[in-house]
This record gives sequence, structure tokens and C-alpha cells, in this order.
Amino acid sequence: MTAGTEVAVALAGTGAVVGEAGPADAVGGVAPACVAYPGTVEQAAGVVRAAASLGMTVVPRGSGRTVSWGLPPARCDVVADMTRMNRILEHAAGDLVVRAEAGVTLGQLGEVLAEKGQRLALEGPAAATVGGVVATGAAGPLRLRYGTPRDLLIGITVVRPDGRVAHSGGKVVKNVAGYDIGKLFAGSLGTLGLITEVTFRLHPLAALTAYVTREYDNAAAAAGAVLAAAASPLQASAAEIDRPGPGAPVRAGILLEGNASGVGERAERTAAVLGPGAQISLAAPHWWARRGEGMGAGTAAGTLIRVSFWATELRQVLDAIDMVAVDTGVAPAVGGSGGAGVLYVTLDAGADADQVAMFIRALRAATGHGGAEDPGVLARGSVVVLTTPRAVRSSVDMWGPVPGLALMRAVKRQFDPGNTMSPGRFAGGI
Ligand SMILES: Cc1cc2nc3c(=O)[nH]c(=O)nc-3n(C[C@H](O)[C@H](O)[C@H](O)COP(=O)(O)OP(=O)(O)OC[C@H]3O[C@@H](n4cnc5c(N)ncnc54)[C@H](O)[C@@H]3O)c2cc1C
Repeated sequence: MTAGTEVAVALAGTGAVVGEAGPADAVGGVAPACVAYPGTVEQAAGVVRAAASLGMTVVPRGSGRTVSWGLPPARCDVVADMTRMNRILEHAAGDLVVRAEAGVTLGQLGEVLAEKGQRLALEGPAAATVGGVVATGAAGPLRLRYGTPRDLLIGITVVRPDGRVAHSGGKVVKNVAGYDIGKLFAGSLGTLGLITEVTFRLHPLAALTAYVTREYDNAAAAAGAVLAAAASPLQASAAEIDRPGPGAPVRAGILLEGNASGVGERAERTAAVLGPGAQISLAAPHWWARRGEGMGAGTAAGTLIRVSFWATELRQVLDAIDMVAVDTGVAPAVGGSGGAGVLYVTLDAGADADQVAMFIRALRAATGHGGAEDPGVLARGSVVVLTTPRAVRSSVDMWGPVPGLALMRAVKRQFDPGNTMSPGRFAGGI
């Protein structure tokens, strides 16, 4: 019996559906032996336990949109596809809380919550699963007001790499001693275990939303306006920036939410902050929440870089991106939550790999993400490559220097001494 057949037989014994893996199941170019589709927490636990007992590795998958983000796994024997675990288990509307299986999509959840006038305050793609959203830690424009998935997560159930089930928060409290597992698993890219259920804090749907937008011919003016609006008492829910290419006008957009009369007045006052030419609209501008569209396919799709910084340094970051783009001869598009200190930089798949690698290194140097020897223009910043073609990946460090790496290694060792879960995906090969 081949190793692939042996693991498929062992997994089938757990009650999970098991399928042969095809080329589309590869993760970052690493092909698994099979794909398991658990339908319950017990089956999910069985899958991880069976794989671990055979010395096989497991890579979790939600919708698969961004499963190849991060480093390719050092090994990928079993893909644990969570899409059969797609039940909304409890919507306690009175408590503004929902508990859902990890394979529930944002679209599915949104529809159910909307019936009760509620929402999960994350503007993600409808196809993304809640488990995947927590595992990637990705957040859209609403992060300015509501934070990231880890801020909205109040409970989680996970299968640990040894196959044991652990709960944290929510209604059942049975924590792994000393750890807040929800916070640990948020952004963990499947390296610590399999998320099977999540409990989120909800918010009421806004009765009315308005977008106040303006184009500026320079980054300084746009950054100043976005930061002024974000810091004002106008209670912006989002403060976004978009620049389609170097030298192009910089767009600023502020989202306001609330009741009809309040939003109208706040929109007028926000327009005054953005200055002459600001427009108020009930619909989002076409560039809203554009974060590396088409980058979900991974290595074939180009380069997506997340730049995080103190929001007050927005102008310097935009200037640094421009300067480095000119120096290295690439043409990045930039967009994101400028008012919350997160921008996404995208480069076309056709961009020259050497130039892209130079751009990434130079941007790290210019934003201070090189450590003390290389302080750059900013006191603090991080430039993380979420996805990039293989030719670039082989010559740059996707994560760059990561503070607290030793601690992260220790946590991984404690959770996953056998290196069962998504080995090698995270910073420092964790
Ligand atoms: C507000 C917001 C805006 C976004 N905008 C965009 C965009 O414009 N373009 C874009 O491409 N993406 C965008 N994303 C990210 C994107 O949608 C991710 O694909 C999504 O968040 C991940 O869900 P998924 O089901 O696709 O997970 P996958 O892509 O299948 O997996 C992503 C990662 O999570 C891990 N994972 C998945 N499920 C689990 C689980 N149950 N337990 C443990 N680990 C797991 C995987 O191993 C992998 O490392 C956005 C996300 C948010 C929240």
C-alpha cells in the first residue's frame, strides 16, 4: 500500500468524506496525497489524529481563495477541506452573538444575520469561510471602527495537532492552560490546528451608509485629509486610500454609518474636512475595498504586499512606496485602510521578478522594516508579502524580520511538536 493509499484508508475510517487530490488541490505548488472533507468536529478531530499517527501533515482549507498565501508548506499530505462544516449553529440575536462552523461563508452568514438586522462587521468576499477569515486575520475597510477578525472573535473551537478538541471563550469555557486560543489562532494560517467553530460578536446593520470621497493630486494632501477625518469626532467607520499607479491621483474615501439624519449631517461635515470637490454618495466608489483582486489564485496572479504602520505615518509610507517604485522601475497600485495604518500594494503578474524583489527589499529599508541597522524613514513598519510568483519568492523573505519569532517558535513547538499542521508556512519556517 502506498503512503497515499494508507492515509486515505485511515481517514475514511473517521467518517469524513475522502477524495483523491488533483492539481487544483496543491497548496503553493505542493501536492497533497488526498483531501478530507469532515462534516463534524469529531470527524475533523479524527482526520487530524489519523494523519498525525501516520506522520502525515495536514493543511486546512476553507474556500481555497487564499490557501496559497504565505510560504508554501514544507509538506502537505492531507488537505482538510472545511466546506462541509457549513452550519450556523446559533444566532443569539438578543445577545448580538453568532456561533458557526468554520466552513460557513461570509455570504451565507451575512444573509442569515441580515434577517435580524445584524451583521458581522467585516467586509470580506462572500465566498470566504469564517474559519479562513480568522486563520488569515484579513480585514477590510471596517477595521478602522470594528477591528480585525481577532477583535470580533469571542469564542473558538479547534482541533489541536494531536487530534484533541479545545474550546475557548463563547459559552463553553475550557481553555488550554495559559493561552487565549482565539487570539493565537487569529492569523495563524493553519499552523497551530484546525478551526472547527467560531463565535463572533455582531453589530446592528446600519440604517444608512454614506461615502465621502475626493481625489488629490498628491499623497500629502490625501493622507492629511484621511487622517483628519479618521481622528475627528465624526465617527468614520472606514477611512480608505487608493492610488492605481505611481503619479496617479490619490483617492480618499470615508465611510459613515448610522441613522438617516445623523449620517447626512456627518457626511456634510466630513466633506468639509476633505475639502473642495469632495463628493457624497450612498454607493461605494468603484475602487472601495479593492485588496489585491485576483490575487486569490496565488502564485500565478502577481504580488500582493501588506504594509502595516502607525497611521500617522501614512504620508511617509505613500511617499516611500512612490520613491521605491521609481527607483526599481515597477508600477504598484496601492489601496487600503490608510486611516487604520494598513495598505496593500499590488504588482502585476507580468512585472519583472528581479525588479519586484528589489522593490520589496527597498520598501522594507524605506519603511524601517529592516530592524535597527536599517531604520529607514519610519519608526516602525512591516512589509509582508502575502503572495508572489515563485521566481520572486525564491529571492526574498516573504515575512521579513518578525519581532517575537522565538516566542512564536516556542508556541508552535508546544502546540505542534510533531509539526503536523501546515509546517513551514509561517514566518521563520514555522
Ligand atoms: C475584509 C476582507 C477583505 C478581503 N479582501 C480580499 C480581496 O480583495 N482579495 C482577496 O483575494 N482576498 C481578500 N480577502 C482575504 C480572503 O478572502 C481570504 O480568502 C479569506 O479571508 C480566507 O478564507 P478562505 O475560506 O478563502 O480560506 P483559504 O483561502 O482556504 O485559506 C486561507 C488560510 O487559512 C487557513 N485556513 C482555512 N480554513 C481554516 C480552518 N478552518 N482552520 C485553520 N486554518 C484554516 C488555510 O490553511 C490558509 O492558510 C479579504 C478578507 C477579508 C476578511
